[in-house]
Amino acid sequence: MQEKVLVLKSGTCGWAKCCFCGYGRIPGKEPSYQNLKKDFDIFFRDVRKDDTVKVFGSGSFLDIKQVPADARKYFIEKFKGSGAQKLFIESRPEYVNEAALKEFSGIELSVAIGLEVADDALLDKINKGFHLKDYAEAENTIHKCKMMVRTYLLVNPPYAKDIKKTLDKSVEYALQHSDTIVLINLLPHGNTPVFKMWLTGTWNFLSREEFRNVTDRWKNEPRVELDEETFRFAPKFPEQAKESLKGVGEAFLTHPHFEVWQDYLQRWYRPPEEKDLLLFLPCSYTKPYSHSATHRGIIDTLRKTEKYQRIHQVMLSNTGVVPREYEDSYPFNAYDWDEKLETEEIKKRYIEVTKRRIKKYLTSHKDNYKTTACFLKYSSESYQALEDACNELGIPLENLLSKETYEKIKNDGKPLQTEAALSDLYENLKKER
Ligand code: SF4
Repeated sequence: MQEKVLVLKSGTCGWAKCCFCGYGRIPGKEPSYQNLKKDFDIFFRDVRKDDTVKVFGSGSFLDIKQVPADARKYFIEKFKGSGAQKLFIESRPEYVNEAALKEFSGIELSVAIGLEVADDALLDKINKGFHLKDYAEAENTIHKCKMMVRTYLLVNPPYAKDIKKTLDKSVEYALQHSDTIVLINLLPHGNTPVFKMWLTGTWNFLSREEFRNVTDRWKNEPRVELDEETFRFAPKFPEQAKESLKGVGEAFLTHPHFEVWQDYLQRWYRPPEEKDLLLFLPCSYTKPYSHSATHRGIIDTLRKTEKYQRIHQVMLSNTGVVPREYEDSYPFNAYDWDEKLETEEIKKRYIEVTKRRIKKYLTSHKDNYKTTACFLKYSSESYQALEDACNELGIPLENLLSKETYEKIKNDGKPLQTEAALSDLYENLKKER
């Protein structure tokens, strides 16, 4: 017996206005009988007797504008023909009605409703478009038809002043009305008002540990499921939110678009497991960094060593710490900080802010790395920030560019591109454990 998941991209959610939901805003395929029949035929090829089928549809399976009545009937026939046992669908309360539910007779059906929070004032604020009485009516109808209710709750809903109290109240209420409930860690979808709240600091996601701490009380409650990671989350800025980030000064050092990325890298991101040698590198004017002459030289040198797969390249810039795998993501590929315009004061701030960011990154990910090294100019503010951060954390740091070599090449226009510097990088890497 297996769980088979059907992700339906049919039409658009009939409401599409919940402030946190990105999926509901995405237009799906034309919701025609023919399109859906094709999807169902493909899906049911893999469904076996006694399987459990879960349908996720970014909206309502019972909304005939998303799943027309003839397509729904066809789905039910296919389900019954497959011998699968349990079925989970999703619906907003307004589409729940006895006539539609009766079509599912003979199936062990659970209807999932995204209640999110058991508080009418908060439901209004998050723009849910229904109230507790609407949810309770739908729940009654489902139970009257001898079917089951599954309720989704957000652990960290926007506008909740006290997450724990709000969640307690929501879980208590939902358990009275539901057969199962799912506690969801709300993560920011790019094309939503909640993403803007994250940028302005008026709402934040919970790290995995924070989520576990808040939901720990229910981890052994059989009717409660915990969902700490609903999708593979990384900050995704919609085109219209992107800004020009070319300049030098405080506004370009602690810009909210940089700050949310640093927050993500500190509290959610996991460095690749196989990379246990952390190598801090400079940024470059050319974006993405790997297209610059300096980075091409560095990468070619790293590739020559046997340790290449183990090296996690992380750049330091006014945007913060930038793992190589994100160098071509906005805003890391869209800023420009001209060193020639730096004042003594902004250099000092750069060191302070960069040190703070490095310390947080290293504190979060110290268990991932066996070795911390860098390939940076000794005179650079990035090196000073990194050295201070490692000293304060008691983490040994080695600059793979030796001081002797640096003294010889420091007046070269591009010292890190010189043969002497790259030879140091190669030779010192060979020595690293
Ligand atoms: S949460 Fe559900 S009801 Fe709200 S917009 Fe998204 S899909 Fe629609």
